[in-house]
Amino acid sequence: MEKGCTDCERLWADYEDASKSHMKLLADTARALEEQDTALLRQLEAQVVQAAERRTKARDAVKRHEITHSGEPPKAGCIRIQ
Ligand SMILES: [Zn+2]
Repeated sequence: MEKGCTDCERLWADYEDASKSHMKLLADTARALEEQDTALLRQLEAQVVQAAERRTKARDAVKRHEITHSGEPPKAGCIRIQ
């Protein structure tokens, strides 16, 4: 992360937030499994998928942005363009 770059800060904060949400949902899922709460498990399933997607996208955004600091052109296949 580049010091003083507001884009870096924003993207990292978003990634951290996405990671935390994902971890929390995974913990909730583990608890629901333990308690065999199938109704809750069904609910959590979709949320976990969404949170994982958000986390992946946030991580890709960080990677895409960090390339702009390297001074090198992005290599093909290195990043996924959405
Ligand atoms: Zn930056």
